[in-house]
Amino acid sequence: MSYTSRRYDQGESISCAFYSKIGACRHGEKCSKKHIKPTSSRTLLLANLYQNPKMNKSENEDSSPQQLQETLDLFYQDVFVHLSRKCEVASMIVCENENNHLNGNVYVRFYSENDAARVNQELNQEWFNGKPVHSDLSPVSNFDEARCRAYDTDTCERGEMCNYMHLREPSASIMDKLTKGQEKKYLSRQLEKLKAQLAEFPPPSEKPNGDDDASSNTTATTTTNSLLSQLE
Ligand SMILES: [Zn+2]
Ligand SMILES: [Zn+2]
Repeated sequence: MSYTSRRYDQGESISCAFYSKIGACRHGEKCSKKHIKPTSSRTLLLANLYQNPKMNKSENEDSSPQQLQETLDLFYQDVFVHLSRKCEVASMIVCENENNHLNGNVYVRFYSENDAARVNQELNQEWFNGKPVHSDLSPVSNFDEARCRAYDTDTCERGEMCNYMHLREPSASIMDKLTKGQEKKYLSRQLEKLKAQLAEFPPPSEKPNGDDDASSNTTATTTTNSLLSQLE
């Protein structure tokens, strides 16, 4: 092997593909490849935030699929609403892998890097279930590429050795409620902004008298205002 190609090989192997694609690698700090932390990202990783009942079961007790789903639904709602109050959430996923590096990981994606940076700082001051929250900017940009497709159809044979995300999604009705609730909240904020902009229009009395254009403008503004109030 020539010096040049060896250098090329080393270059290829410098960054850890698991860390950059999945946001976590089973070797953690001891990984022989580099975990290159992003300096800005739209994605946050809240490591081990979800208390996965599959990991915390006592010896004789196995949660039924329904119990697992209910636990996840409650958790998901709680965290989504909390995050959505801080900033509009683009998407959020929860891992239930039964290994240390992916277990209970929550990944949340926002619409801008600035939003993610702000929420990241806030979260690191907070506690959840009696434990400090660990939030970090994550390099993961595509949740679809990071998820284990076999797990989705209950056919992943790698079990805890699997390095891809084993996701449990909230029930469709819950997700629907959360999405609609968030849409409403951020739409009404946009309406507030629009109203504020409309309020900056000069009041009708300042318009020259007898000007036909001015009177039609006034009508238009009044109509817009009444439409806006109906939308609320
Ligand atoms: Zn690694
Ligand atoms: Zn898997």
